[in-house]
Amino acid sequence: MTAFLVVLLGLAIGSFLNVVIGRLRSGETGWRSRSHCPECRTILRPSELVPLVSFLLLRGKCRSCKKPISWQYPAVEFSTAALFLLAYVLRAPLLGPDGSGTLLVLLRDWFFISVLTVVFVVDLRDMVVFDSVTLPAAAIAFLANVALGAKPLSLLGAAAIGGGFFLLQYAISRGRWIGGGDIRIGAMMGMMLGFPHVLLALFAAYIGGALVALSLLAAGKAKWSGQMAFGTFLSAATVLALFFGQPVVNAYASLLGY
Ligand SMILES: [Zn+2]
Repeated sequence: MTAFLVVLLGLAIGSFLNVVIGRLRSGETGWRSRSHCPECRTILRPSELVPLVSFLLLRGKCRSCKKPISWQYPAVEFSTAALFLLAYVLRAPLLGPDGSGTLLVLLRDWFFISVLTVVFVVDLRDMVVFDSVTLPAAAIAFLANVALGAKPLSLLGAAAIGGGFFLLQYAISRGRWIGGGDIRIGAMMGMMLGFPHVLLALFAAYIGGALVALSLLAAGKAKWSGQMAFGTFLSAATVLALFFGQPVVNAYASLLGY
């Protein structure tokens, strides 16, 4: 029953994230403006705002202008619900008699998933990273992790590693390899993951980025000079490190004899 409610919550938040992504990409500021078709501006009916269901009933087309609705909408709704459920399944066994500590972990994870989903999609579609997303998220991640017992200095160190890693590349290449937004993502990753998980996420992002770049090159869909939306890989790797980082870190530590 609870798992079902978590999925419904994830679908609702995913639907909200689509609105946030739409507003960020279009530069619209009015949060009160009603949801509309980006092509013909027709105001959507309440029945057209139901996550996943509306997309299926409309068969992926706007009721009015029949233009295709972006796959982003169902994809974000589905993946947010799936990741919310994953976080719940992984954290629920830690539930104590009062459950309070775990609830904060879960809320923190859901917040991270939401932020990282926005960064993932916006960078993928526009190759842009918004500081209005990453900077507040980094601050909230810091406060949440300190509330959960992380050492402030350790988090700041992890943020310096994540941000410094990109700052270095930015300085060496004079901004040709990566954008300034990646520096802020690196710092945010440090605040979210702490040390040494931030290193794991950076490593995973580079492996993932290299694999995707090589397969795109092999398929003839990209050129060597082509730019990559690296924030997309960084946010995916952060989610992976958040949920599956600990076993890897443990295995590596035992390998080194700690
Ligand atoms: Zn339309």
